[in-house]
Amino acid sequence: MRKKLVVGNWKMNMTRAEAAACVETFVEQVSTGHDADVAICPPYLAISVVHDLLKKTPIETGAQDVFWAEKGAFTGSVSAGMLADAGVSYCIVGHSETRGRFGKLEVPAETTGYFAETDLTVNLKTKALLERGIHPILCVGETLAEREAQNTDTVIQDQLKAGLAGIDGAEFAEGVIAYEPVWAIGTGMTCDSPEASRVCGMIRTTLAEIWDEDAANRVRILYGGSVKGANAHELFSQPDIDGGLVGGASLVPDEFHRIVFAAK
Ligand code: PEP
Repeated sequence: MRKKLVVGNWKMNMTRAEAAACVETFVEQVSTGHDADVAICPPYLAISVVHDLLKKTPIETGAQDVFWAEKGAFTGSVSAGMLADAGVSYCIVGHSETRGRFGKLEVPAETTGYFAETDLTVNLKTKALLERGIHPILCVGETLAEREAQNTDTVIQDQLKAGLAGIDGAEFAEGVIAYEPVWAIGTGMTCDSPEASRVCGMIRTTLAEIWDEDAANRVRILYGGSVKGANAHELFSQPDIDGGLVGGASLVPDEFHRIVFAAK
């Protein structure tokens, strides 16, 4: 039986003081009485503040991205070793925003290429995290155009095969896959729960093809895309959904706490 996992992705929100206030409120609300593993992924600069406050709780600290090289002339980048040193145990890779596949454009369309990470960079980042004992949260998902062209499954299978190339199932046992339909991220549009569960089931079948059934069954597969208190229970009750990757709603402690308690 896989334990549910709920991960908050704060994206580019929260100063250190705001992060501390948010975590203090949240910790009070979720210290007991739920069955889920929980992690919070603040922006890099707030990681230490958040980790210090979470140290004595079961809630873990995550990061939103990583660079694959260990160190060197990579201005602006942060390595997996640096994240491990700061107490990070989970790290998101291949989020649709870093892949430049925005659901809701908030930057000029001609700049999206600056965010365009590829399946190859996702693969390098995933390997770098595993080497440092950090659990990758590998995001996959289709755009609206890909869904409408009935390419959802092939897009995701390709992202999985390329993102996990050269990684064996035992190595990824504590890794996580997040199914995040790009059109549902930050838009308020949620994928309906039977369809979200179908895609998560298809992801597990693909993992079994890449590795084997045992290895595939160990991996937690999350749904992400406009999860909130009001829809979390229905999504998390689906047989193939092991929890959620939560953006906007994780910034509001009351809402995030409802989502965590929905993960029974
Ligand atoms: C996300 O950024 O991973 C996400 C799922 O965002 P939201 O919950 O705001 O749609």
